[in-house]
Amino acid sequence: MLSFDNTEIAFESKSNAELKRAHFLFNVIGKRWVVKMGKRFTHFAFTVGLPIKSIIKATIFKQFVGGESINDCEKAMKALADYKIGTILDYSVEGKESEESFTSAEKEILRTIEKAEKDNRVAFSVFKVSGLGRHEILEKRSKMLPLTDPEKTEWESIFNRVLNICTAAHRIKSPIFIDAEESWIQPAIDELALTMMRKFNTEKCIVYNTAQLYRHDRLQYIQELFDIAEKENFYVGLKLVRGAYMEKERKRAQEKGSADPIQPNKEATDKDFNQALVFCAERISRIAICLGTHNEDSSIKLATYLADHKISHEHPHIYFAQLLGMSDHISYNLSKDGYNVAKYVPYGPVKEVVPYLIRRAEENTSVKGQTGRELSLITKELKRRKLTS
Ligand SMILES: Cc1cc2nc3c(=O)[nH]c(=O)nc-3n(C[C@H](O)[C@H](O)[C@H](O)COP(=O)(O)OP(=O)(O)OC[C@H]3O[C@@H](n4cnc5c(N)ncnc54)[C@H](O)[C@@H]3O)c2cc1C
Repeated sequence: MLSFDNTEIAFESKSNAELKRAHFLFNVIGKRWVVKMGKRFTHFAFTVGLPIKSIIKATIFKQFVGGESINDCEKAMKALADYKIGTILDYSVEGKESEESFTSAEKEILRTIEKAEKDNRVAFSVFKVSGLGRHEILEKRSKMLPLTDPEKTEWESIFNRVLNICTAAHRIKSPIFIDAEESWIQPAIDELALTMMRKFNTEKCIVYNTAQLYRHDRLQYIQELFDIAEKENFYVGLKLVRGAYMEKERKRAQEKGSADPIQPNKEATDKDFNQALVFCAERISRIAICLGTHNEDSSIKLATYLADHKISHEHPHIYFAQLLGMSDHISYNLSKDGYNVAKYVPYGPVKEVVPYLIRRAEENTSVKGQTGRELSLITKELKRRKLTS
């Protein structure tokens, strides 16, 4: 029986010092006021040029990020590969809105695909469409509003960047995720993902879109995508997640007086997430999934489904994924049991990765029980190693 309780397996790859650092860090970011103050102070420090880079690098960066460049991620990649866990190199620079930054993001994502070609420890590549073009264009396209001529050119650039990236992944036959983002730009992302799946998923699953099951319309989206794929004979790739922008989504719906795209409560999200994973697993010959979650129950549900239906743990259409520095008890125990597991290894220059780090810190404060769970697991392991009373 699969269990996530074994902290010896979960933290086997961690030295005593690493474990103590993680304990300290989760203790700190578990306090809402510290995260709030930290967010303000970091912004201020970078604005006035205070030397805080080294502090960030030695603490929160070290826990959640692989390094500043692909080469820097070697240590994290090796630590994962030693336990048969794949790497998903995630260039985590966010919030840039210039053509120059879009071109440079495209180049960097292509570099991660080059790395995947040479290094079989890379399980998937990944990118965000919002890193390749302006939000405004994606939003207008999503709402099917007419674009001006310059905007049409911008949309074509976004399309071509996504095409270049997916072509590269297809050439080396290595799968790639398209991350899901805010609901007001998601229709444009879904449109691009469908075009790429039609083009590149005819022989095997290369392109994966992401479905956020905190949205109440995503089960229907998955069903419709499956119907199209059946009719046109291509593979569907889906990363299933609950969704990361809930507060932002609710706030915007309230401000605009529009319908809230998010489920009424956590239970409804959980129900759809678990239903989605069963729907996909039942259609495993057509749909390849990656369960992007830190939720133990959902991970167990998929593992149990595989056992009940005698589906191999290593079936190439089933993957589990977590983020670096989080839920190692799930990743390492799944991997020990022979399941396909990979972790996002975010990387980028310290200053540029700060928004990602703040989200991780906020998630660990706001997601009920997440920090508490990480802390109690680390504490349990520290006790087992007799490093604390
Ligand atoms: C490998 C990986 C890839 C990811 N990729 C993406 C991505 O592309 N796009 C993206 O948006 N996110 C992505 N995420 C983040 C993910 O969506 C979740 O925010 C995060 O993983 C927490 O959800 P959980 O399933 O791990 O578990 P849990 O801790 O069980 O669930 C927390 C989640 O439940 C939902 N929730 C909480 N409270 C409520 C409520 N009151 N009503 C309705 N729903 C609620 C929210 O989505 C919240 O994040 C990814 C996560 C992983 C691990």
